[in-house]
Amino acid sequence: MADTKAVESARHALVAEISREVADVRVLRAIGRVPRERFVPEEARGYAYENRPLPIGESQTISQPLIVALMTQALQLEGDETVLEVGTGSGYQAAVLSLLAQRVISVERIPRLAEGAERLLADLGYSNVEVRVSGDRVGWPDAGPYEAIIVTAASPESPAELLDQLAMGGRLVIPVGSRTLQELVRIVKTDKGAVRHNLGPCRFVPLLGSSGWPEPAS
Ligand code: SAH
Repeated sequence: MADTKAVESARHALVAEISREVADVRVLRAIGRVPRERFVPEEARGYAYENRPLPIGESQTISQPLIVALMTQALQLEGDETVLEVGTGSGYQAAVLSLLAQRVISVERIPRLAEGAERLLADLGYSNVEVRVSGDRVGWPDAGPYEAIIVTAASPESPAELLDQLAMGGRLVIPVGSRTLQELVRIVKTDKGAVRHNLGPCRFVPLLGSSGWPEPAS
């Protein structure tokens, strides 16, 4: 489906806004190519190009576009990587990653969200993304080690299991902190250990399970 003029110019304006804080042209170009309006619920489409998170059902959110861009930039992708995303949600971040890497494995704990994202990504032609429903383990060791890992849910600490799934020289980007406020952290795995930098404050929905926060009682 061709973009309407209005959608095109709204997306362009969003990219211009993000470019004030994100310099990586490849990342900006990818944001400019992904139809965010398709990843939000029908009733929220009018807000798809505002720079803010939006609800996607199941008490989850599609991240703020600026945060998507900052996290993607911090992964320093060159195009030949296999990337792991933890927290598929709507599939939007996975679509952005798919334009910048060779293969994307994206894991989600809520089957309904995983199914919806998988269908949408296939419909839109993002054929190098594989969505998986994750169980108890965090991540997806079977397809690792990964050159880049992005976690789009907040964790009290960076899970050791994810560092194990990261290749030497690989980058892990994850929000770390309390349930309500976190710091975006970039960790590089080197032969001398993990090197950690803070990228700034952020606010994400919680990572649930053994490596994150306790699952809600059902
Ligand atoms: N990246 C998404 C936004 C993610 S919201 C997007 O672009 O739309 C965070 C997601 O992480 C939610 O869908 C939540 O269900 C999922 N999640 C939380 N804990 C998880 C875990 N342990 N493993 C996989 N997914 C998890």
